[in-house]
Order: sequence, then structure tokens, then C-alpha cells
Amino acid sequence: MTVTIRILSSSEHCLSRNDVDPDALKIIHRLHRMGFLAYLCGGAVRDLLLGRKPKDFDIVTDARPGQIRKRFHNVFIIGRRFRLAHVHFPGGKIIEVATFRRDLAEEERAAATERIAPELMYGTPREDAFRRDVTINSLYYDAVSGEIIDYVGGLDDLASRRVRLIGDPASRYTEDAVRIWRVVRYAARLGFEIEEETARAIPAFAPLLGKCAGARLYEELNKELGERTRPVMDALRARGLLRYIIGGFGEDYENDGTIYERLREILENKDRLQKDGLELTREECYALLFWPWAEAYIDGKDGGFRERMEKAFESAGTQAVFPKKMKTDVVQILTLIVEIFKAFRNSRANYVIPRHAAFPSAFVLFGLIMEGRPGDPEKMPANLFGRLHPAVEDKAPAKKRRRRRPRKPRKQSPQE
Ligand code: ATP
Ligand code: MG
Repeated sequence: MTVTIRILSSSEHCLSRNDVDPDALKIIHRLHRMGFLAYLCGGAVRDLLLGRKPKDFDIVTDARPGQIRKRFHNVFIIGRRFRLAHVHFPGGKIIEVATFRRDLAEEERAAATERIAPELMYGTPREDAFRRDVTINSLYYDAVSGEIIDYVGGLDDLASRRVRLIGDPASRYTEDAVRIWRVVRYAARLGFEIEEETARAIPAFAPLLGKCAGARLYEELNKELGERTRPVMDALRARGLLRYIIGGFGEDYENDGTIYERLREILENKDRLQKDGLELTREECYALLFWPWAEAYIDGKDGGFRERMEKAFESAGTQAVFPKKMKTDVVQILTLIVEIFKAFRNSRANYVIPRHAAFPSAFVLFGLIMEGRPGDPEKMPANLFGRLHPAVEDKAPAKKRRRRRPRKPRKQSPQE
């Protein structure tokens, strides 16, 4: 790729300092005063140039993590392979400050027997721009001079609404197949085209996605569910990539149009409600993702829903590796949703389930799944579920609680 550096002065673009998070600006100015380079980078620059609200404000600098830690007091250094500085602010806000880095050449990687020395991984701003995934994610904003710096042709691609991989697609996908997913994600989320060569290489390298580390796939999936999910799921399915991320579930969603349609509808509602401010936990998002698949197991002869679904969960398998607790919690929520469903369908009271810690989650999701709006556990019908028990440790047997309902006055016999 032979693109020369392009710099836009502050009067040549629409990004204004006022759009940047004030804490991010503080860090940038402080690093600058200390003599370091410091730019806003990645998704924040892309989103601000598109007039969208960025999710976070990442900073890149030539200061090393140790130097950042010495000069700021609210800093935690994270990452084992490549160290990053996390600057903490009141209210739980964290701003990531990374040091410019570069891609190692194959020989360098082969020569490094065990751990690659961090020094080897640091790079120049130019190298850092070229090691990134797609051109639109590779722009820098110098908040001090007001300039946008573009080493890779990202500005042109933003203007033409195009997602283009940096470098040769075959080697970039082989190096890291998660980039296939990221390319598809940005195109779907932003409504962009995928540049021709970037798109042409996808089918040949797609199976590599399934061979990526499960923990990384899980991490990327978390990002997907926290944002608008439906358009990206559609695009991943259309390219046959879901199977490489969520294994058997993905295959079913790809092969069975009916259950996928159900997922689509649920995700559409999730996206809309999240945008309107509904906060969903990760467990809840995963329960929604698997619900259309699990729904098929509601009624069956051999064993209860939970056992059948757990077995099917195991055999479906996912490429993404879920922490054990996450899996247990998701199965628990799905099981409770089925119990709620059955209570409504059969008009049969179930006073046991509201005592479960995951019941409020399940009730919210039940409403979202069945009616497209979150269920309100405070307003659940008392005749079916009794009252909500905030104290989960309340282990009182169901029978005892049932007796708390007012008894009908006994008919008085004429003798009394
Ligand atoms: P989002 O709005 O989804 O957070 P983002 O562009 O900030 O978008 P992140 O996943 O937060 O995406 O990654 C931050 C930046 O790191 C990206 O903009 C990109 O430049 C770079 N990056 C992330 N993953 C890769 C990858 N697999 N290969 C190369 N560069 C990557
Ligand atoms: Mg980001």
C-alpha cells in the first residue's frame, strides 16, 4: 500500500476539541506538556468524523507505560504481552493510553523464543497506523494542533464509506482471522461497503476464524452484544461466519431461517431498548442470543428442559470459550424464562421461582422476548408468582409461603 501521509488542519475537518471527552483531553495535554506525542486514535476519531458518539476515547502516545505510571497517579498498567496504561477517573471512567507499537516481522517473531521483549514491540506513529486492522480505524487526531493525521488512506475510505483492510488481505487475515469479523462488523454497523479485495479474501480465510483462541472470540462477542447487534449478526450469517463463532448454535442459525428470524426480531428489540437506555447485563444478552435456539427444548418427553438444554448446549459447542460461571448463569436464566412461560401458558402458579436470584433478569427478558418490551418484575401477576423475594437467601419452602395468602373465612355452620 503506497499511501503518503495526509494531514488535515483544524479548518479542513469537522472534528472539534469540544467533541472530545474532557478527561481524554486532559491526558493528551499533560503528555504533550511533558514533551510526548499524544493522539486520540481508533474508533473515537472514526466515529467523531462520522458525527457519531464514540464508545470510548483511546489515546496513543510515544510515552512508555512506565513513564505514564510515574507521571499520573491514577494509572494501572494492564496486559501481559503488550502493556497498556489505564487511567482511572472518578465514577469508574477508564481511559486507555497505549504506546505506539508495530507489527513484528516473521523472522523477529520466529527468533523470539519465549516472551517477546516489550522494547521490540514499540514503534513509530507510522508503524502503529499500519499495524491496525482497517484504514478507517487508523486515523489520529492531534488535539493540540487540531490536525488529523492519516497514514493509510482512511480519510478517503471514510468519505467513500468503505471498509478496507490495511495491507495484503491474505497475510492480514492469516496473521489474525478476527479481522474478518471486524471488517464485517464495521461494514454492517456503519452501513459501509467492504472494499473489493478485502471482501474477496473472506471465504478462503473464514475457517481460520474458528481456530482463533476461544477467549478472544468471547471477548469480541461481548463487544458485539454491547452494541447494535442485529445488523452485524445478519452480515455474519450471510457470509457463513456464525458457525465459526458460536459453533453448533451458529450452524442452526445459518441453516434454519425460522429460528434465525426469531433471533433477528429479539435482537432488533434488544438494540432498540438498549439505545433507549435499558441496561442489560452480559448474561442477559447471552440469554437473548441463545433463546431462539433453546426455545425448541421447552416441551419434550425425556427429562426436564434444563437437562435437555444443557446436553444440547454441550453438544452444540461454541468456538468462543465462555467462562464457566457465565454458562451456568445463562442456562439458569433460560430455565427460569421457560418456567415463567409455562406458568403463563398453563395458568399455573409457581411461587418458587421468584426466590431465585436470576428471576428479575428472566422476567425482564420474558417480556422482551414475548412482547418486545421488558417485563417489570414489580408488576408480575401475584396470582401466578406471589410476591418478588428480594432476599434470595430466603429458603422458606414454597408450601409455607403459599399459606401466607389470606384464607377464605370458613363458612359458619348454623349451629355456631
Ligand atoms: P468500537 O467502537 O467498536 O470500540 P474500535 O475501533 O474502538 O471500535 P476496538 O475493538 O476498541 O475497536 O479496538 C481499538 C483499535 O485497535 C481499533 O480501532 C483498531 O485500530 C485496533 N485493533 C483492534 N483489533 C485489532 C486487530 N485484530 N488487528 C489490528 N488492529 C486492531
Ligand atoms: Mg473501542
